[in-house]
Amino acid sequence: MASLSLKNVCKVYPNGFEAVKDFNLEVEDQEFIIFVGPSGCGKSTTLRMIAGLEEISSGEFYIDGKLMNDVEPKDRDIAMVFQNYALYPHMTVFDNMAFGLKLRKVPKDEIKRKVEEAAKILDLEKLLDRKPKALSGGQRQRVAMGRAIVRNPKVFLMDEPLSNLDAKLRVQMRSEIASLHNRLKATIIYVTHDQTEAMTLGTRIVVLKDGVIMQVDSPQKLYNEPNNLFVAGFIGSPQMNFVDAVCKVEGEKVSLSFENTTVVLPPAKAKKLADGGYNGKTVVMGIRPEDIGDSEIEIEAHKDAAFETDVTGYELLGSEVLLYFKVAGASMTAKVDSRTTARMGDHIKMAIDPEKIHVFDKETELTIT
Ligand code: ATP
Repeated sequence: MASLSLKNVCKVYPNGFEAVKDFNLEVEDQEFIIFVGPSGCGKSTTLRMIAGLEEISSGEFYIDGKLMNDVEPKDRDIAMVFQNYALYPHMTVFDNMAFGLKLRKVPKDEIKRKVEEAAKILDLEKLLDRKPKALSGGQRQRVAMGRAIVRNPKVFLMDEPLSNLDAKLRVQMRSEIASLHNRLKATIIYVTHDQTEAMTLGTRIVVLKDGVIMQVDSPQKLYNEPNNLFVAGFIGSPQMNFVDAVCKVEGEKVSLSFENTTVVLPPAKAKKLADGGYNGKTVVMGIRPEDIGDSEIEIEAHKDAAFETDVTGYELLGSEVLLYFKVAGASMTAKVDSRTTARMGDHIKMAIDPEKIHVFDKETELTIT
């Protein structure tokens, strides 16, 4: 398998549009890297530059220390799996998987061995004689994977490979891809705009916005310590709540006020705001839906961070409930236990966990704490 290195990579399309700006990333052998970000942020463009399907405008791209910029796609030892599978309808599953090897003039018995091996890994052994139209969406997706696996490439590139599957199949294929990564010990770069896929599959996630890397970190780190407002809002579902708040520093005590509520920050967070000179300034307070509670225990535990509001929406998810409400004009969501008695239209009390508060600079949108 392989390590990848992208140094100051840029892509300017012929019409002058700068789709990827100064992209720097070191991918270690066997990593599962996810590119995630909103539509048009440059995920596919970057993947296509790695594959050699798109020219790199400036910067360098290396595989195992070897410069790849001018190496033909077929010589890069990379296999790509697309969202539309691109299977040949007139060929059997076996022939679809064998096709690339036949083109490379691999001996027949070796092709047979490799296809059967991949079919075993992907649980396709009983389907090798079928044509794609006689397969389910998930099975077709596995054949597309199989076609990549038989080549035993150094790197797998996957561009939204699950986006054509229904919700249930997506979940199933997601765990299959995770176990495939474990078994193949492969280096994988995977593009998605689905942040659940990103969080569950990736060893590291690259969050992109307008062609610029916003943060590269493990799923856990992105969730707990986002670099800025954009990453904080993009990672996590339902997304983090944001409300403008005024910071007040009185000695060691630092508080954030919004509407009729004043939340005293824990010491470590307080210090960052005091040291940053935020006294009297408006900042953006971020709190995840799961860190707002409506139970008596939570309200008692976080008395100083309690507030009252009207429930404007109620959604039962199963074991949890989403409550929608407004605070200081901002629409907010809380994810609470389904045993809650709160219902649409109720006036209720809730509390924020101050330890879980994120604070962002309103102008730079960078994380303060
Ligand atoms: P999506 O999630 O919608 O697939 P993406 O993050 O993969 O989006 P890209 O396909 O990489 O985005 O496109 C990045 C930007 O480059 C977009 O604004 C797109 O319009 C632009 N773009 C893509 N191809 C070209 C092209 N051939 N010429 C000019 N601009 C292009």
